Parts: sequence; structure tokens; C-alpha cells
Amino acid sequence: MRNRILGGLFGVAVGDALGGTTEFMNEAEIRREYGWLEEIIGEGVWNLEAGEITDDTAMTIAVARGIIQNPEDPIEAIGEHFLKWKDTNPKDIGNIIRTVFGLYDGNWTEAARRAGQLLNGQTAGNGTLMRCLPIALAYRDAAVMEEVTRRHSEMTHEDPLATEACLIYNRIARRLLQGEQLTSAILTEITGTRYEQLLNCEPPVTPPDGFVVHTMQWVVHHLLEAETFEEVVQRAANGGGDSDTIGAIAGGLAGIYWGCDGIPSRYADKILLQQNLIELGDALLTLREKGDR
Ligand SMILES: [Mg+2]
Repeated sequence: MRNRILGGLFGVAVGDALGGTTEFMNEAEIRREYGWLEEIIGEGVWNLEAGEITDDTAMTIAVARGIIQNPEDPIEAIGEHFLKWKDTNPKDIGNIIRTVFGLYDGNWTEAARRAGQLLNGQTAGNGTLMRCLPIALAYRDAAVMEEVTRRHSEMTHEDPLATEACLIYNRIARRLLQGEQLTSAILTEITGTRYEQLLNCEPPVTPPDGFVVHTMQWVVHHLLEAETFEEVVQRAANGGGDSDTIGAIAGGLAGIYWGCDGIPSRYADKILLQQNLIELGDALLTLREKGDR
């Protein structure tokens, strides 16, 4: 279980750090600039250090810290850690989350609702899907896991499409933590949903952008097609668009499935925050095994 939990956290970070190089580029630009990007080199639009992570991992860490701080009722604690992160002046805060931060006045769902009005209902971004994995890592009880996943998404993203994607994602994560095969876990959870057509293994016709439905389509496609952890995150990075976020989301599930020891050490060792991830992973493991939820 420790290997799986650490694999999940490192999977998010590696997908983020690798994909951060190519964020907002298209495939032709990536081929021209990098050929097929295989190594964590930083640079890109955020001028990253090699191994530096972006908002995807930072917010995942905030969710993990909130859960560890108050596992019985983590939402307010998660919010506190979001605000602490915001106060570090990060390079990259997504548009929806930036808007919610600007409107927050002590009530997250109210801020999310007002952001929905301000953004003309355009709040189905991938900003909650990219950070929701620690909830599946921490809570064994399916009903608790689903409730926290739902409430956590509604803190910033009013749109039910965002909540739906987080729920499907964390249900897959839960199956992988229990040792289920990757394809079978995905098949079970997307059958009967809007993502079901991905089972035909055709690449999505949609762009790999920040709309949560598109993001989820690419995540599922990479996970169904790739044969190793490495291939999952490289596919995401080399697809461009919202590549760091797609890499983080796909990398999280791939990391659980292949385990931390299935992540190449040349990737894991590059992550600048690796010590934080190990400490958080161990705390989440303790919660999962000793907690009653
Ligand atoms: Mg990012």
C-alpha cells in the first residue's frame, strides 16, 4: 500500500514536472523543439527548474495537508492550505481558481457560485480533477471518499461535470489501491458514463485542453494505451495543450497502478519536493490504515 500511495503522489508530480515543459504548445511545436520529450528538463512557458512542479502538484499537496490536518471534516482545512499556497504567489493559478480566490469571503461554495456567474457558467475546468487524488488515498470507506471528493470539487468548481470527473477518477484510484488491474478498473468505472466511448481505444477527437471532459478523455486514453508508467506521462507531455495537468492526472493513477518502484528513478529523483511527498504519503498511509474512515 505504501508503494501505491507514494506512487500516486510521485505520479502526479512527475506528470506535472515533465508536462510543464510543453504546456500550451501544440504537437508540431513540441516535435520541432524537443523531438519526443523524455526527460524532466524544466523550462517551458513557466521557465521551470528541472524537477519543479506547478499548481497541479501544489494543490494536490494542499488537499493532502488539509486531510491530514482534519480528516473528520477536511474541507475548511483544505481551504486554509489553498490560501497558504496562494499567498506564496505561485507562477500559475488557473483562471477559475484565481477567480474563486478573489471572491472568497469565508464560504467556498458561495465563492464558487459567484465565480460561476462571473465566468458565465464556464466552470467545468480540470482544476479539481488535478488535485483530488489524496482523497482516494486517505479514505478507505467508499461513501466517505465520495462525499469528500464531491464537496472538495464544489469548493471551487460549481459545474457538475467537474464533480463527476473527480468521482470517476477517485473510484478508479480506489480500485487500483485494492490491487485491481488498470484496464478492468477503468472499464468498470467508465461504462455507462459519458466516457464510455473511449473503450474503443480511438484517440479523442477533442483537443487536450483544460475543459474537464476533454482532459478526462485524454487521461483515460493514455492510460488504456500505454504499457508503462513512463509511457503514460510521456504521452501526456508530448500531446501538448494542458500537458502538465493531463500528465499529473494520468500520472497519479499510473503511479498507483505501477507503484512508486515502477516510476523510473531518473524521474522520481528529479522532483524537488520529493521529501514532502514521502512525508505526506506516509501520513496518508497511516490515516488509511489506522483511521476508521
Ligand atoms: Mg500546472
